Amino acid sequence: QNPVPSDIAISRSCPPKPIDQLAQEIGLLSDELEMYGKTKAKVQLSTIKRLQTQADGKYLVVTGITPTPLGEGKSTTTVGLVQALGAHLNLNVFACVRQPSQGPTFGIKGGAAGGGYSQVIPMEEFNLHLTGDIHAITAANNLVAAAIDARMFHEATQSDKALFNRLVPLNDGQRMFSPIQVNRLKRLGIDKTDPSTLTEEEVTRFVRLDINPDTVTWQRVMDTNDRFLRKITVGQSPTEKGFTRTTQFDISVASEIMAVLALTSDMADMRQRLAKMVVATSRSGEPITTEDLGVSGALTVLMRDAIKPNLMQTLEGNPVFVHAGPFANIAHGNSSILADKIALKLVGPEGFVVTEAGFGADIGMEKFFDIKCRYSGLRPHVVVLVATVRALKMHGGGPTVTAGVPLPKEYTEENLELLEKGCNNLRKQIENAKTFGVPVVVAVNTFKTDTDSELDLVCSLAKAAGAFDAVRCTHWAEGGAGAVALAKAVQRAAEAPSDFKFLYDVELPIIDKIRIIAQKIYGADDVELLPEAQHKVELYTKQGFGNLPICMAKTHLSLSHDPEKKGAPTGFVLPIRDIRASVGAGFLYPLVGTMSTMPGLPTRPCFYDIDLDPETEQVDGLF
Ligand code: ADP
Repeated sequence: QNPVPSDIAISRSCPPKPIDQLAQEIGLLSDELEMYGKTKAKVQLSTIKRLQTQADGKYLVVTGITPTPLGEGKSTTTVGLVQALGAHLNLNVFACVRQPSQGPTFGIKGGAAGGGYSQVIPMEEFNLHLTGDIHAITAANNLVAAAIDARMFHEATQSDKALFNRLVPLNDGQRMFSPIQVNRLKRLGIDKTDPSTLTEEEVTRFVRLDINPDTVTWQRVMDTNDRFLRKITVGQSPTEKGFTRTTQFDISVASEIMAVLALTSDMADMRQRLAKMVVATSRSGEPITTEDLGVSGALTVLMRDAIKPNLMQTLEGNPVFVHAGPFANIAHGNSSILADKIALKLVGPEGFVVTEAGFGADIGMEKFFDIKCRYSGLRPHVVVLVATVRALKMHGGGPTVTAGVPLPKEYTEENLELLEKGCNNLRKQIENAKTFGVPVVVAVNTFKTDTDSELDLVCSLAKAAGAFDAVRCTHWAEGGAGAVALAKAVQRAAEAPSDFKFLYDVELPIIDKIRIIAQKIYGADDVELLPEAQHKVELYTKQGFGNLPICMAKTHLSLSHDPEKKGAPTGFVLPIRDIRASVGAGFLYPLVGTMSTMPGLPTRPCFYDIDLDPETEQVDGLF
């Protein structure tokens, strides 16, 4: 239709098929499905086991040029490509996407179900509670936060003996350690199972985690953009006897538990990762884990359902897994390994699974390869790199844009000069993808103001930069039919020889790994470790975390650390301010500059437009 209706209007005009019908069509058994209403279902992990002898399908990852406020359309392209492969080329397909945070849905960005005629439906279900996975993460995360503060309080206000008697209560006149406590004793090197045989010194070591309050890295979370929670003081009631502490809230999707969910491979592995999360350091310098707090079993219980991927569908009736949505800066920004694995089995060797990586290729794609693929063991066949004419013009030096003000003419009228300059960002990101040895297909997501000469220019420069192919697509305006050329290019690329390799060996020293990413992917001359980062390199190496992969927390708006530097900057030294560890998820994250982990609301948030029609109970105003 011309003009294209709003996302919610399109989503609503297309009644989804019953999700159990879709599940049957794609070969799921009825007892592998847990229905959440009529349009969403969770899929049990046992599906992987049932299909273990089945060969995997082809694995594609969608990434993009360096993002700009003009939007590139990675999610839209992921969905459009799956619609083209499935509904138009009749292949078995699956899209695997992240679950969006409710923060941006009500804040600045709006929804993330794709857009136009390439969407996951029903988009209001997708963008809001889905099946409650993010709520489960919030609950689990905050249980850890409560456990930390309560533990510090109890240790500060009780004797060793009182602590011991409460931690190991009398049961029928006998004290018994719980399995979690037996594990803790083992870690302390105390090889005893009878509580009455512990010496005084052993009792002290057992009951006192002795957390240094200044080292607590675990924050509370909620899934709302609430800037006033960026710094808070807890413990102000007289009942906490003056044990106040300055801390903060993060947005739920920034919780390490979200990253654990995305990277886990089964229930036992999730239990282990949830137990290994380091929340603070003791006064003697030992890492304090969730297992030390005794909370890891309860966390696994809270996450029991969240571990199962959520099945939904595209506008054209193709299957979609919506599962996990870790931040792409302080975490790795990719949907779950489990969803990809189940999808690859379900589509079979002739089928295609299209998974999406957040931000630009320098961030989401690099982490997809070096973190997600390292843990999953899966090897992608093709990289699909999304670019738009308008975003490339911004990289070429086009003016900044302001919300609520019409776009400057540079973006709405032909300007080949600006576009050609901006293609240096596209070139660098193509080279980045090729560094991993996988063929790259560039998808030029067409906007209605783009001209033929502009679109041709991007395609020819992309091919000159080494792309396997570069094609225009119109799936936003036309659905899957608009991405058939892309689908065919991807099919050919998936048959091309590929030689996948990681960027770095995890056994290298921390600093070497960071330098390789900075130089090879960002184009930096070198890196500079500020004193806090230097201290952490020493600490983590000593604590035995030096061999974890690296998850750079860098701005997504530039290949460098400076969001103002568009295009493909060179001649810069990347400053590393600090390094943190997500030991349960399994990576170290160097902070390049300051990262906000709690977004704020703009002057006119998206929620102004969102309402419910009481008659029909339909949601209006989501986009
Ligand atoms: P990303 O995944 O890269 O953040 P999305 O796919 O979520 O981008 O798209 C961002 C926004 O841009 C969405 O609102 C989408 O509807 C819109 N959009 C994407 N492609 C087009 C297009 N070709 N024309 C107009 N709007 C588009």
